[in-house]
This record gives sequence, C-alpha cells and structure tokens, in this order.
Amino acid sequence: MQTGYVYHDDYLKHDTGPHPENGGRLTAIMDGLKKSPYFNRLILVEPVPASPDQINYIHTHDLIRTVRDLSSSEMHLDPDTPTCSRSYEVALLAAGGVISAVDAVMDGMDSVFALVRPPGHHAGPDRSMGFCLFNNVAIAARHAQKRGLGKVLIVDWDVHHGNGTQEAFYEDSSVLYFSIHQYPHYPGTGSVDEIGRGSGSGYNINVPLSRGATDADYLHVFNEILVPAARTFQPDIILVSAGLDGHRDDPLTGMNLTSMGYGQMAGVVRSLAEELCGGKLVLALEGGYDYDVLSESVIMIFRALMGECDDISGTETVMETGKGTVMGMGAGIGTGKEKGTEKGKGTGRGTGTGQVSDHTRQIVEKVMKFHSGGKIL
Ligand SMILES: [Zn+2]
Repeated sequence: MQTGYVYHDDYLKHDTGPHPENGGRLTAIMDGLKKSPYFNRLILVEPVPASPDQINYIHTHDLIRTVRDLSSSEMHLDPDTPTCSRSYEVALLAAGGVISAVDAVMDGMDSVFALVRPPGHHAGPDRSMGFCLFNNVAIAARHAQKRGLGKVLIVDWDVHHGNGTQEAFYEDSSVLYFSIHQYPHYPGTGSVDEIGRGSGSGYNINVPLSRGATDADYLHVFNEILVPAARTFQPDIILVSAGLDGHRDDPLTGMNLTSMGYGQMAGVVRSLAEELCGGKLVLALEGGYDYDVLSESVIMIFRALMGECDDISGTETVMETGKGTVMGMGAGIGTGKEKGTEKGKGTGRGTGTGQVSDHTRQIVEKVMKFHSGGKIL
C-alpha cells in the first residue's frame, strides 16, 4: 500500500496575519504527523507549481490577473480573504500540489493526501472568496481529465458548502459533485434543490445537515447517498475536499464530528476507490482551524488510507473513542469485490453506536426525492 502526502514549506509563505486560515495550521499538522508512528511509511510527493494555463482550466484570465495583482499589493480578495506578496505563487503551488497528487495516483501510488494551503473550494471561475484563492480540487479534476480520465467524483466533506466547485461543474455530467455540509451556514449555498443544470442535472448532490451532526449522521449519509451514487456514476478517480472544520472542537463551526469520524469517512472513500477506480484517490486539505484536532484527524485519515482499520477504536495515542462515533472503518459499505474492501463488507455497522438524528433521515429522504428519476440516485 503506497500512501503519499504533499507538503512544502512554501505553503507557510501565504501570510494572512491574525486570521484563522494561517500557516500554523499546516505546521501543527506536520508536527503531529512527524511524531506519529505512521510518518515514516508515507511517501513525500513534491508539489510542482501550477501554470496559469492550468489555473485557467477553471478560472478566468481576469481572475488570475486579479489574484496576481492584488497579491503584489497585499490587498484583500474579499473581506475574508487577505493576501501577501507571496500569495499568488503559494496559490499556484497549492493547486499544483493537488495536481501532483493526481499525477502520483495516476502513475501508480494508491492514495495521496495533499496538505496544502490556501484552501480552494469556495473559489469559483471568476472570483476568489472565503479564504480560497484558486480552486485546487476543481483544477486537479480537470487535470485528471486532460490526462485521459473521463469521470471524476468529488466528495466535499468540508463543513462549508463548496460553492466554487459546484459552480465550476454545475452543467457538467463528467464530474459528480457530492457535498455534505452544515446548513444554513457560510456561504449560503448548498440546498438540496441545487442538483445541476442542463446535461449536468443530477450530477450535483448537496446534503445540507443541521448544526450538531455527528459521525453517525455523516456515515448514514455516506451509506445511503454517496455509496450508491458513486456506484452508479462509476468514477475513474475520486478527489476529496477534505476540510476538517466539522470537528466538534473547531472554533468556527457547529458540527460534532470526531477525529475518528474523519478516519471512517476516509475509509469509505478508500473502499469506494478500490471498488470503482483501481484505488485512485486524492484528498486535499480545505478548512479546519483547531491545531490539535487538525493533526489528530489527519493521522486518522492516513491510517485509513494505509488500511489500518481494525484497531481504529484502540488508538488511544491519537484519539478518543467519544460519543457519536461509529465502530469500524468503512463500515456498512461494500461488496468487497477488490482487495481491501473486505473489512467493511456488508457489516451494516455504519450507523454503529452513534444515533442518526431524525433530521438527518429527513434530509436523506429529501435528497432522494429531488434526485429521483435522475441519472445518479
Ligand atoms: Zn470550511
């Protein structure tokens, strides 16, 4: 099992001052990761800066120029999104890092987690916003297609709706965008009825959960919606906008996920990738603002990617087994057609010890209703 990570010290050079999205996030992640027993088993994937032409897969030339020019004068791109003189080049390296991750899995690595910043999923074709300069995952999705892959599944579990990614692929049936997020919340988009348009109709799935949702709620949604949708769609690669700001300790948001919950979600997407697309899986960091839980959650995700599933509840060094958690990684999915999926095979443990709320069940029904008769659900 070859598991990679993308990192570069230059990611710290996007200096945002006293802002929640700052270089300390990545420093905390790397410090925690280096102390863990898993670090020496991970393979470094060196990021290569994206070219402006690659950024233009998603963003207009006008926006690219705006980011470059406002960075050089250290201006804000929106009230939430400051820049410094290095921000443009760091943003190129962030997008390039996710592209490098895609290249690595297309060239044989099993999965890669790109630990990049600034994040990307709020950046739309013609605007930067919400801490995001360029949409790293969307650009990497197009890169995968330029290299010959046809269909891309983007799973966005950042606690905020990825309005930029949705906008980029809203009329595109070659990219299935699935977002699970707190709602109502920033940026205001992401309701169930936003299902795509034209030939993209049905290929945009929003699951807006209310504040307080737990691991059990998320895994219920994964089992009921993401897994069947992915199996119908049959992606050639899976990309994850892996924000960690739904953690119950995150200072900016109101969800109730645990670090183990992130590991379990990673286990589900890993199983899906193995079943559907030869294991090709890339995760990219989006949000997440509590230093301690950032590193803890990243370690849990790497454990899932490396296939360390069975003893997940006994990992006292990196996490606690708290309320609302679910036993078993990748549980409840799977026919186990290919290697690695046996662990979760049809055990139905996906809703485990946590309680799925009535509200979440209602949202799942609503999503199915809006997509019924569609091509995916
Ligand atoms: Zn977020």
